[in-house]
Amino acid sequence: KADVTYLRSLLGEYPDFPQPGIVFLDIFPIFRSPFALETLFTHLVHHITTVTLPRNRLSSIDVVVGLDARGFLLGPPLALRLHAAFVPVRKKGKLPGECVKVEYEKEYGTDMFEMQAHSIAPGQSVIVIDDLIATGGSAKAAGELVGLQGSKVLEYLFVVGLPFLKGHEKLDAPAYWMVEGD
Ligand code: IMP
Repeated sequence: KADVTYLRSLLGEYPDFPQPGIVFLDIFPIFRSPFALETLFTHLVHHITTVTLPRNRLSSIDVVVGLDARGFLLGPPLALRLHAAFVPVRKKGKLPGECVKVEYEKEYGTDMFEMQAHSIAPGQSVIVIDDLIATGGSAKAAGELVGLQGSKVLEYLFVVGLPFLKGHEKLDAPAYWMVEGD
């Protein structure tokens, strides 16, 4: 589709960042173009209304969960368009008050993700958004946090997917990415 080809053409590629051997894909050029950013959100809303909601026999999304940190830039504008709540998942020690916590695997060792307790009501319809899925460890941890609140993720959404890493196979719900990296 033309919108996906256009967004793919804007992605930055940085070999050996943040470490040798990794090609970092950068979504910020999309944010520098209002037309591209509009295209991105229009595409996501179209996908949610034509695929995600009918597949789950639902008429609305209750909560958009965004992952630290680029999911914080994508989640609130999407939540506004869907008339949904936005709930952040943050790295440990950043959120005040009672939190639910989950450990997740990083490339070297583990880290902790947190969500404020009671920020999602049991049974609410939830989607998760982040800029990119690689190994799927972060998205899986976010799904576990949603589970600890008594709810379940309907779908995991990303701007970029790296399906050769098979991260989506770790998840408990379908994953959708607009652009495929290689
Ligand atoms: P995962 O947990 O291995 O799926 O890694 C995904 C997380 O790492 C996301 O929060 C991404 O923002 C970040 N990440 C990994 N590789 C890249 C990249 O090439 N560009 C941007 N973010 C990346």
